[in-house]
Amino acid sequence: MTDEKVTAYIKKCLDAGRMAEAIDTAKVTGAPLSNEELNVYIRKYLDNGWMHKAIEGSKAGGIDIPKDVLLKYVNKYLEDEKIYSALDASRIIGIPLPMEKIAFIGKECLHKGNISSGLEAFKIIKEKPPEEDLIICGNMCFKDGRLSDGLEAYKLANKAPPADELTICGNICLNKGQITPGLEAYKLANKTPTKEILRICGEACLLEKRTDDARKAFVAAQKVDESRTMDVREISYEELKTSRIDNPCFGQKYCSDCENRIIIKERYFEVSRCPETKEDEEKLDKLMKTQYGVSHFFIEMDILGSGKGLINCAICGSCGSQNVVLSSGDDAGYMEIKKRKMD
Ligand SMILES: [Zn+2]
Repeated sequence: MTDEKVTAYIKKCLDAGRMAEAIDTAKVTGAPLSNEELNVYIRKYLDNGWMHKAIEGSKAGGIDIPKDVLLKYVNKYLEDEKIYSALDASRIIGIPLPMEKIAFIGKECLHKGNISSGLEAFKIIKEKPPEEDLIICGNMCFKDGRLSDGLEAYKLANKAPPADELTICGNICLNKGQITPGLEAYKLANKTPTKEILRICGEACLLEKRTDDARKAFVAAQKVDESRTMDVREISYEELKTSRIDNPCFGQKYCSDCENRIIIKERYFEVSRCPETKEDEEKLDKLMKTQYGVSHFFIEMDILGSGKGLINCAICGSCGSQNVVLSSGDDAGYMEIKKRKMD
């Protein structure tokens, strides 16, 4: 080996924490390796939390590390929330870790959203992390866009993550170009991300040349267009009269069950978007049924401006049936959604 290669090899050993090997190599090849240099590396190992390597190396180099220095490092690891290093170091020097301090640090870790260190701390003291601290941790993770960590925290707290926190997480993920957790967060929140944020996500993916992710984002943006939500809001007859419709009248109706045509109770709804496809119709049908208990209704398309439609349903005031139909056969401009058989 050339001198250069030897020096490089020694440095490689030292960087990896293999001090004994570096010292042996220096001895065999006659390459220079000073005690000062070894001391610098021992300090580095200790700073890294590698107490085992530091002690091993110091023994090989005949360098003494005083026990109080080691103890100082154990405390430093605890303060730096390097729980594993602290535990390891305390075992090496044979001094147990202070339990209250670990519980305190565990809480602190959780409050910062550092779930793995927090859990490790509680594992060491064999205690369950408190539910409220886990929830704080989960919310911190969500605010950081770390969906799986946040979900884990909530799972351990035995709580369902709130939709708002999930949406925050979803937005952060999407803004960072993380399409998969972004979409998952939204799905768990039972919400749909906006087309704009999905496009931002797609662009971010493209910048990082993650074309599959970009495609996923743009496809999702496309789908938002197709499946824009249909929001239905019940409106009063008074409100309907003040709307732009000249004649808010769906025509004469009669009950097909008891033939009553006088007492018909009508209800009106504004739908944010008119159904365009069979799927839309089914969605609206289901929405009307679950939200308002309406299984039979008429919809007048695009009548309330901005593509909004007017839904009208009627209940027979005499027998309570929803099978109220238009008495005239003229239903042009109306779409009737019939009651579907539920199986
Ligand atoms: Zn009736």
